[in-house]
Amino acid sequence: MRYEDWYRRSIEAPEEFWGEQAQAIHWHRPPRRILDDSNPPFRKWFVGGETNLCFNAVDRHLDARGEQLALVGWSSETGDVRELTYRQLHREVNVFASVLQSLGAGCGDRVVIYMPHTVDAVVAMLACARIGAIHSVVFGGFAALNLAMRIDDARPRVLVTADAGTRGGKVIPFLPLVNEALSRSEHPPQRVLVIDRGLAGPLPLREGRDVDYAQLRKAHEDANVPVVWLESNEPSYILYTSGTTGKPKGVQRDVGGYAVALALSMWSVYDIRPGQVMFSTSDIGWVVGHSYNVYGPLIAGATSIIYEGLPTHPDAGIWWRIVERYGVRTMFSSPTALRVLKKHDAAFITDRDLSKFEHLFLAGEPLDQPTARWISDVLGKPVIDNYWQTETGWPVLTLLPGLDMKPVRFGSPGLPNLGFNLRVINEVTGEDAPAGEKGVLVIQPPLPPGCMTTVWRNDQRFVDSYFSHFKELLYSSLDWAIRDEDGYTFILGRTDDVINVAGHRLGTREIEESVSSHPDVAEAAVIGVHDAVKGQVPIVFATLRRAQSGEEANETAAQMQKVVVEQLGGVARPARVYVVNALPKTRSGKLLRRSLQALAEDRDPGDLSTLDDPNALEEVKRALLRGP
Ligand code: ATP
Ligand code: MG
Repeated sequence: MRYEDWYRRSIEAPEEFWGEQAQAIHWHRPPRRILDDSNPPFRKWFVGGETNLCFNAVDRHLDARGEQLALVGWSSETGDVRELTYRQLHREVNVFASVLQSLGAGCGDRVVIYMPHTVDAVVAMLACARIGAIHSVVFGGFAALNLAMRIDDARPRVLVTADAGTRGGKVIPFLPLVNEALSRSEHPPQRVLVIDRGLAGPLPLREGRDVDYAQLRKAHEDANVPVVWLESNEPSYILYTSGTTGKPKGVQRDVGGYAVALALSMWSVYDIRPGQVMFSTSDIGWVVGHSYNVYGPLIAGATSIIYEGLPTHPDAGIWWRIVERYGVRTMFSSPTALRVLKKHDAAFITDRDLSKFEHLFLAGEPLDQPTARWISDVLGKPVIDNYWQTETGWPVLTLLPGLDMKPVRFGSPGLPNLGFNLRVINEVTGEDAPAGEKGVLVIQPPLPPGCMTTVWRNDQRFVDSYFSHFKELLYSSLDWAIRDEDGYTFILGRTDDVINVAGHRLGTREIEESVSSHPDVAEAAVIGVHDAVKGQVPIVFATLRRAQSGEEANETAAQMQKVVVEQLGGVARPARVYVVNALPKTRSGKLLRRSLQALAEDRDPGDLSTLDDPNALEEVKRALLRGP
């Protein structure tokens, strides 16, 4: 099958193309119309069709693969391994759905899920989908403030949580955080359902509000909860963006379009067929977790590994032992995680039997070449950079090994995915940028199935954030890109982060790549700061592979400047280089450049609700005071 033919058809005859793809899922009632695009930028896919995500992910497989593993929950934190067949998963989901109903949750109600990355959390999501409740998963590593914000936005009827989460072996009780969040929120849920893993001692339950799941489920063990059929465009869930560029946006997703897009991508992109094993190391708190830990693999009838813990605990070999043990075919992870593994001996990978292992996909942040080369050499396989957003729900730029594998080009996440009509637009002229020239990456509507339908309860923010940047009604990715002659697209950084030096527009990514090519550099963040003469100049914050003395570090910093000048020219020369021990990142591993920039320009660092390690920011403040 030729990628070119499939792609062309998906763009030129979208209704025909998607009408065919829709056959891959179960419809209780088939769609009346494939696409209703009469009210752009709002659009509706598979109008009038009725389906259900839980039915497609679970019930549908009972006959053919009831005894096959659906989920493997592996926790390096607690030492637990839990395996569920499709039949067992079906039972668990029915029990959970019945419990939710007994707490008053029903179709259209919101349920906030604030849980560690466990099988129970997946069951909770599927139970919501079964009864038509809209889940809003809040990453279990977030603090009370993040939780309160999301509760106020979603106004849930029920909150599902656990006794505790863990991080690197440290137990973090959740109920105190939940109590704080609920006391701060204006629309607290009436009921809190607590799943006790026995990590935090006796549960301090609040009478009348909190219930212990283990107690309550006893009365629901045999429950059979009928699937609630939903019109394709009903909301399935709310999920917030990572908050890298500002206050997180509440992405709303539909039901039918999402299921169809995931079904297509599971075989064409991830090359997973029924019965095969997928291991995404993401967390259910992120979009990758929703699409490729939970719904995608299950809709495909595959086995999904749900991993709780660090990639290096108990040691750096843990992921690869799981790959060997379960015969994982496709793995999905992040550049940040691979950079951590790179610091360890590669024998932890090469010593394993990886005969069933075929593909590694990495997404979320730019994949630097040293890391990409290292891991593809170790695995002896191409590594596929995947570009997408919480908003899009599935990959925008990718290679499609399940359809027609094209060669990898280092530095590029590849080609437009099926259904994504991508253009690169010059910000100033609003015209298409010719090959080789920089511009904003946009999607020409209609956005394919699976993409966000609106911002939750805020249609105006949907229009303003994504569709108001150009004369034409185009979806702006808010990322900067360059496309080569063959359509391979390179992401240069966020449009917010573009650095304008004396009229030259530079992407943070280009300079970061260049700095990172210095062998002593572990990771670099580049930002533009105000300069009286040039408008802006780039400055660098870098972490080093090994500790260096002050003098050594100064020498390395000077070399970084030199490397950039050699590779990108004098205009890109970093005005200052700060060597630090850590860079500020979001909980999902993204560099918080806007906060670095604000601090460097002596401004307030802005919304820090998603900041991972506050020490990293303190460290930057000290470095700025100390000087480069
Ligand atoms: P917010 O939208 O709240 O500022 P965010 O954009 O980081 O946060 P996500 O939806 O988690 O939230 O991340 C999507 C963004 O991550 C993309 O727009 C892009 O900037 C970056 N990104 C994702 N994958 C890649 C990749 N393969 N290469 C480069 N950048 C990537
Ligand atoms: Mg974003």
